[in-house]
Amino acid sequence: MQRVEGFKKIIIYSDTDRVKCSGEHNDHPLVYYTIPQGGEVVCGYCDIVFRRREDDTWEDETMLNRFES
Ligand SMILES: [Zn+2]
Repeated sequence: MQRVEGFKKIIIYSDTDRVKCSGEHNDHPLVYYTIPQGGEVVCGYCDIVFRRREDDTWEDETMLNRFES
């Protein structure tokens, strides 16, 4: 398997610190990761980056949801 340098970085933002990954197209076994506080975790199989959603963003979305409902 070859990895290309400069491969487009995929970043997934999560609302929780527990994330799971099975590849962009389910191309590797399902694995679970824990995102460190204020940090990010990179999948060892497919290099997808998981980041914890910022607290500010989370509050904004909560307000948006209030407006919608
Ligand atoms: Zn992965």
